[in-house]
Amino acid sequence: MNHDLSASEKKTWILIQDKIKEKVTPQQFTTWFSGLNLIKLNTNEIHLHAPNSFCREWIENNYIDIVTSSLEEASISNRKVKFIADNNGSPEPELSIQNSTSSPSADSATYINKNYNFDNFLVGPCNRLAHAAALAVSESPGTAYNPLFIHGSVGLGKTHLLHAIFLRLQEGGHKVLYLPCESFVNNYISTIKTGDWNSFRNKYREIDVLLIDDVHFLANSQSTREEFFHTFNALYTRQKQIVLSSDCPPEEIPTIEERLISRFRWGLITRVDPPGFETSVAIIQKKTSLMKMELSYDVTCYLADNVVSSIREIEGTLTNIHRYATMNESKIDLSLVKHIIRGFSKQKRNIGIEKILNTVTKYYGVQLSQLHSKRKLRSITLPRQIAMHLARKLTNLSLGEIGGYMGGRDHTTVMHADDKIKKLKALDRNISSALRKLEDTLTKQHEY
Ligand code: ADP
Ligand code: MG
Repeated sequence: MNHDLSASEKKTWILIQDKIKEKVTPQQFTTWFSGLNLIKLNTNEIHLHAPNSFCREWIENNYIDIVTSSLEEASISNRKVKFIADNNGSPEPELSIQNSTSSPSADSATYINKNYNFDNFLVGPCNRLAHAAALAVSESPGTAYNPLFIHGSVGLGKTHLLHAIFLRLQEGGHKVLYLPCESFVNNYISTIKTGDWNSFRNKYREIDVLLIDDVHFLANSQSTREEFFHTFNALYTRQKQIVLSSDCPPEEIPTIEERLISRFRWGLITRVDPPGFETSVAIIQKKTSLMKMELSYDVTCYLADNVVSSIREIEGTLTNIHRYATMNESKIDLSLVKHIIRGFSKQKRNIGIEKILNTVTKYYGVQLSQLHSKRKLRSITLPRQIAMHLARKLTNLSLGEIGGYMGGRDHTTVMHADDKIKKLKALDRNISSALRKLEDTLTKQHEY
C-alpha cells in the first residue's frame, strides 16, 4: 500500500518506531512491527496498517501497551488508535519471517547473544536450582531433566539461561535449535499458507535439542498449541531434550490444555525469583566491573536495596548512572545516585498511589478496607490486583512499597498480581476496557 504522508508525518512515524524499538527485542520488532505502517494521523485519530489480520490481532492483544506508550513518548497522546489490516476477518498470514529449513543453528544464530553464557551468569538463591538444572541439561541432554521448564517474571535471566544451554551444547557438537515462541507461532502460520509441512516438521523434529523461549505466547493460538504438542511428542519419544521458558508456571498459561500441562510436568519445573540483597550486590559488582565503572560499597548497597524488581532493571539503572556521570563528568557518589534515580522517576508519570486506590475503589464500588483485607472473593481480588498492576505501571514505588499500601502484602504478591492482570488483559475484553478507562482517568488528572 502506498500512503502519502507528509514529511512531518514520516518523521513522527520514524520517532514512534524508534520508541517501539526501545521496548521490544530486535526479533520482535522485525516479526511484528516492520510491516506496520502509519496511514493516517490527525488530532483525534491515528490509523496503523498491519500486513494481515493475524498480525493486527497479535499486536492488539500483546503489544497495545507498548504502542500506546510509544505514541505518548512521541507526543502523540489522547488519540484513538485504530489498527487496519487487509482482508479483515479472514486471516491470510504473510509475515516477514525467514522460512528457512536449512541448518537449525543458522536460524538460532540470529537470536543468540554470546554474552548470555554460563560464565556471565551469577548464581544466587533466587536462581540456583534453575542454573543447576540448566547445567545438567547441557551436560547430558535428553536424560537429566526432560523437559526442563523455567518460569518467572521478566528480566530474571530465563533467556540468559536458555542461550547458555544453547551455546554449551552447540560447542559440544549437538544439533540445537533455539527460538522465541513467537517465531514458532509465526513459522506455523506461514506454513499454513505454503503447505510445506515437511520442511516445517523437519526443522523442529530433526534435532537433538529444542529450546523455546516464552512459551506463554502459546496461549494465543490453539492450532499452534496443537502442532507444538505433536512436536513435543515426536522429540520426547526419541529422548531429545526440550527446554522451555515462560513468564508463569504451566498451569497459569491462559487457555492451555491439560495434556500440555501434564507433559511439562514430566520433567523439572523450576522458578527464577527476583534477586535478594546479596545477589543484587554481587550482580551490581559484576556488571560495574564489566562496564569499568566504579561504585562505592554504600552506593552499591543503596542500589541493591532500591532496585529490586529484576536484573534487567538493575542493568538499566547502571547504564543510566553511567551515562549521566559520563555526560556530566561527575563523580558517582550516593547523593548523585539518589538524584539520578529520583530524576528518572520524575520522568515517568508521577501518579500517587492514593489516587489509584481512590479511582479503583470508586470504579468497582468497593471499600479500601476490602482491598486491604485477605478476602478472596473475585469481586474484591480483581480490583485489588488491578490496583497493584496500575501502581506498578504508573508509579515508581517498589514492589515492597506497593505491597505496603495494599494491606501489608509482600513483593511477590504484587508481582504475581501484576503478571496476572497483564495476562487477563490480553484475553478478557472487559478487563482491557476497564483498564483503559481507569488509566485514562488517572492520567488525565480528573476524578472518576
Ligand atoms: P528474562 O528472559 O527472564 O526476561 P533475561 O534473561 O533477558 O531475562 O535477563 C535480563 C538481563 O539480565 C539480561 O541482560 C541478562 O544477561 C541479565 N541477567 C539475568 N540474570 C542474570 C544473572 N543471574 N547473572 C547475570 N546477569 C543476569
Ligand atoms: Mg526472556
